[in-house]
Amino acid sequence: MDMMTARTVVSAYLDSSRLAGSLLLAVSCLLASSCRSEATVTDSRTMLHPDYWLFGRDLPRIVEGLPRTLAAAIETDPRLFLEDCKPLLRERRDCIERAWPSKGLGDWAPDDLRSFPAGGILGDRPDLSLRAPALAALLSMANAARQDGIDLRVSSAWRSRDYQESLHGRYLSRADADRVATYSMKPGLSQHQLGTAVDFAGIGPAFAATPEGRWLAAHAREHGFSLSYPAGAETLTGMRWEPWHYLYLGTEACDVQRAWFGDSQRLMARYFEGQGELLARSRFR
Ligand SMILES: [Zn+2]
Repeated sequence: MDMMTARTVVSAYLDSSRLAGSLLLAVSCLLASSCRSEATVTDSRTMLHPDYWLFGRDLPRIVEGLPRTLAAAIETDPRLFLEDCKPLLRERRDCIERAWPSKGLGDWAPDDLRSFPAGGILGDRPDLSLRAPALAALLSMANAARQDGIDLRVSSAWRSRDYQESLHGRYLSRADADRVATYSMKPGLSQHQLGTAVDFAGIGPAFAATPEGRWLAAHAREHGFSLSYPAGAETLTGMRWEPWHYLYLGTEACDVQRAWFGDSQRLMARYFEGQGELLARSRFR
């Protein structure tokens, strides 16, 4: 082979290796782009939490119906949301799901009502009763309040559907229905029928400024009690501000309410009414 021929062969070889290099680059680009689309598919198949049979594709159902800002927070960290929800999916799930029943409670009645202990820390009110876990939490809260020099008194606790009906009827005989709707629930919709709601004495907006009202506003959540009708939330709840009316949900639920539901009991309860079953069913550990 002369010098010219050798140069031609080498240059042809270099050209072909450049071509091979370009081909290799093109193939790896294709692979990379297919890997990227693979990654998107994997996202929708990614398990959101190791203890739930829920995946990326389930996120729209998980956040359905929530205000955009709350949905966005869950979409950003679904694992933490599902972890926080775990204690709510056990025995107290029904307390949360029934708290704001969109279709009413009907004749539902709790089967674990307990009378207030006579002569106890809450005074002599054995005519009042609550569900067992709510009463235990209330007695413990009243003890904690007593340590701070506060005497909590209760004016109303569990009410049967029939009692609510007669109470609501009495209000309707004195005022028009639109006005009554802002302070008294129709029979079947009252949280008092749940056996987990408490009205502290005394009833009225002035309660908020009393030592008892201030103590509850600061500490009730530490004992699992959540204010049902807060000031400024009248449009959302449909009810006037009731600084004396608390609902027992448990401390974990109060934490979840604050962390994930803008501290709105109603938003959290309606969420679990809609999606609690999905979360509970999907949880396998
Ligand atoms: Zn009440």
